[in-house]
Amino acid sequence: MSNNKPMPVPTQISAPFWEGLKARRLLIQQCNACSHWNFYPRRHCPVCLEHDLAWREVDGAATLYSYTVTRIATLPDFIDEMPQKLAVVELAQGVRINTNLVGLDEGEIEIGMPLQPVFAEVDAKGNRLLRFTGVDKDASSLEALPAQDSEPLSVASEQPAVQQIDMNDGPALQALVSEAFCDWSNVVVVDQALINAFAQLSGDDYWIHTDPERARLQSPFGGTIAHGALVQVLQSRMKLALGFEISGFTTQINYGSDRLRFPAPVPAGSRIHSRARVKKVELLARGTQLTLELTTHVVGQDRPSVINDLVILYIA
Ligand SMILES: [Zn+2]
Repeated sequence: MSNNKPMPVPTQISAPFWEGLKARRLLIQQCNACSHWNFYPRRHCPVCLEHDLAWREVDGAATLYSYTVTRIATLPDFIDEMPQKLAVVELAQGVRINTNLVGLDEGEIEIGMPLQPVFAEVDAKGNRLLRFTGVDKDASSLEALPAQDSEPLSVASEQPAVQQIDMNDGPALQALVSEAFCDWSNVVVVDQALINAFAQLSGDDYWIHTDPERARLQSPFGGTIAHGALVQVLQSRMKLALGFEISGFTTQINYGSDRLRFPAPVPAGSRIHSRARVKKVELLARGTQLTLELTTHVVGQDRPSVINDLVILYIA
């Protein structure tokens, strides 16, 4: 599963809904004045305009009002969920909810079919999204977090001790230098939309990057590939599990690169991740200079797509 998916941000008004899902409960607002059920969460009743709304638990029994099957990801981060069954379901209380159908083959989906809720876990923090499946399905078996990439972000971010090292602590800094790379970062998907956006930004719209049809026929890679420079800058989206943080500086500068190579292509649609090691530490008059050897690979590939000896300068 991609770790970059946008997550709901609860507001003061919607927080009870999201908190309910975390506890595997479906809470919907009902107007105390006119009994109208209300979704999405609001401050007042859309029928009588009263502000007296109560959160009430419902069992989630629903029917399918409408749906579509998307075969092109709505965002690059959803490539791993294709095809998605985007649906509007109607709860027994009459409110309609935008959602996804899960655990159903396309051939099983019919307008008007009865549905039950699935409290789908979406991260290691226990956040859940409301999805739906057929009433003959085992909803609880569809709730678990999908199998993660081999080295997910959650592992990296949950590593307990991040060592704080002062930028002037020469011995501690020198001890960071190692031949061994850290664990893999989170995974980022490099899809055609991202490549096109970079082509527009950089002005490099060479067909090998931007014309999937021609690239399929003529490119040695059998399709479009990402710009090396794009894959290089995506290092900013990688959360590296280096296990330390430098402290005591006022400014941190990307000072450039001692070595930059693009040994392997990144075909459009690839999932990439990075790892790094501290190659060199220098305490200089202008500041502390850390050289990281950072490599980015297509997931599962030994040969790196980017090798970057990245020089970071910490200024007091
Ligand atoms: Zn009302």
